[in-house]
Amino acid sequence: MPIDSHISGQEENAMLIMIKPNADEAQVAAIKSCVEDLGLRAIESQIRKQLAIAAIGDQGIAPNGFIESLPGVEHVLPIHKQYKLASREFHPDNRVVSVRHIPIGGDAIQVIAGPCSVETPEQMLAAAAGAMTAGASLLRGGAFKPRTSPYSFQGMEEEGLKYLADAARPHGMPVVTELMDPRDIDLFLKYGVDVIQIGTRNMQNFRLLKEVGQLQVPVILKRGLSATIKEWLMAAEYIAAQGNLNIILAERGVRSFEPAYRNMLDVSAIPYLKRETHLPVIVDPSHAGGAAWMVPALSLAAIAAGADGLMIECHPNPAQAWSDGEQALTPQELHALTRQVAAVAQASGRAYGQPLIDLPRAS
Ligand code: PEP
Ligand code: MN
Repeated sequence: MPIDSHISGQEENAMLIMIKPNADEAQVAAIKSCVEDLGLRAIESQIRKQLAIAAIGDQGIAPNGFIESLPGVEHVLPIHKQYKLASREFHPDNRVVSVRHIPIGGDAIQVIAGPCSVETPEQMLAAAAGAMTAGASLLRGGAFKPRTSPYSFQGMEEEGLKYLADAARPHGMPVVTELMDPRDIDLFLKYGVDVIQIGTRNMQNFRLLKEVGQLQVPVILKRGLSATIKEWLMAAEYIAAQGNLNIILAERGVRSFEPAYRNMLDVSAIPYLKRETHLPVIVDPSHAGGAAWMVPALSLAAIAAGADGLMIECHPNPAQAWSDGEQALTPQELHALTRQVAAVAQASGRAYGQPLIDLPRAS
């Protein structure tokens, strides 16, 4: 028996209904309502500039030839992958997830930077200014922290969300922060969180995935510590199946046999994912290497391998950080790194997301 047979779902049903280019709106609406009457979900996509409707669900088998006979239908294709909406079959072009004015997954490489944890208003103001000057386009900072020990700092919670938002606002930077519990969603919306991070430890928290799937807020889905790519894409499918396709996958290193560094960055996952899915792929070199000195090499490798962006821990004073200080870059180190990232991006036929500002010379 194949190891994943329990997720293969015998009743699973998925097809792409290709719509005739000359079909009118009423015909498209009628096709969608027929799909829904069958107990399936109807989700639109563009396939090589042609409108398609994905009909997906675990019930409702259409009688043979029924969908094909509807006015406006050109033909019907099966979706073979178990991750239907996350697959390139569903959406052959790269998906660009817009985070306010910042496109992720397009031509330009974007950098998300900031501390592991939100600590104080002063720390966040310095972190935001440092990240911005260094060339990052989004600000990160954890207010709810998934710590291995219950006795370690657990995050500033609501206050942290406020410090993060207040620090980012003057720079117009969107913010990224981790959600661990669906009960905090209202708080995240209240403080205008632009990107919800689902952390490694929650990659298969299916209730949490379903909840963020019901929002349209972009989601960064980090890879589970020992998750296969298929499990990871099935987790993305949970979010997409609820209607939120604004998903960004983040490779952050996987647990391996090697204790010399925190995790093993799975560089191979990057080109593999770019082939399998239309979703943007970013890399977190900080949690992969677990040491600041390793971050530049891993960042450049990730961009060379085709990643759409980086999420890098950066702290105004790493030695004083309340969590993950050993892997945090200083703003000056990040500034030096983004120049190298831009050069590798250019060599790979990509652009860099932000204009790079020179630091004033030390006198
Ligand atoms: C983080 O980004 O601070 C974090 C806890 O990451 P991960 O879920 O990858 O361990
Ligand atoms: Mn961290």
